[in-house]
Amino acid sequence: MDLRENIEAVRRDVAAAARAAGRDPSQILLLAATKTQSSDTIRAAIAAGIRACGENRVQELTAHLDDDAYEGAQVHFIGHLQTNKVKQVVGRVDLIHSISSEKLLRAVSAQADKLGIVQDILLEIELAGEASKSGFPPEEALGAAQLAVRLPGVRLRGLMCIPPAAARPGDNLPYFQKLRQLAVDITREMLDNSIDMDILSMGMSGDWPDAVAAGSTCIRVGSALFGPRPSVSPRKD
Ligand SMILES: *Cc1c(COP(=O)(O)O)cnc(C)c1O
Repeated sequence: MDLRENIEAVRRDVAAAARAAGRDPSQILLLAATKTQSSDTIRAAIAAGIRACGENRVQELTAHLDDDAYEGAQVHFIGHLQTNKVKQVVGRVDLIHSISSEKLLRAVSAQADKLGIVQDILLEIELAGEASKSGFPPEEALGAAQLAVRLPGVRLRGLMCIPPAAARPGDNLPYFQKLRQLAVDITREMLDNSIDMDILSMGMSGDWPDAVAAGSTCIRVGSALFGPRPSVSPRKD
């Protein structure tokens, strides 16, 4: 496994997929999903050109921050976040992708307000109706967005989704198209709030080509860069 080669290969493939979809490759951020990786591996990824890392466990985020592992890159939080852990995340990351409930939205805003900052966030949308997954159902997304623009501590930047694992290319394309349409609909509904929902965080190692075709601006890629992970639950923190 050569990290630098993997990063270059994914970048090349993303650029080709973007052009095939008539898109500018520079509009798509390659976010390295760094769960279970060491601080040294993160540093190596950044040295090889990675500009943003996504963590999904608070404990790993904290350890890597303490190590200064992310120097030279943005850091995003992409995992399930419990309200009792917002203090460890708010103000320490560039973007939180996984705002999955009103309670969490309010807690993040309150913490940011306390720090005197505005935290950039995405709303996580649960498109497949999987009970085991977190996220706003699509029909609650507009209400959540309206709440977000009223709260002083958050700036709503867009939407994120984690569809079921795709068995075949094309399987998740309908979910990605749905998320994009939802962002368009919300933006239209909230015109007078002049919100800037320019981020669509969608696509992982197994399905990013479909996400790019559907308009993703941020693909979250782990195993295609770092190789397979030891089998651990991806959504715990
Ligand atoms: C682990 C993870 C990814 C990346 O998964 P891969 O299949 O390894 O690319 C993306 N998003 C989230 C939220 C994750 O937890």
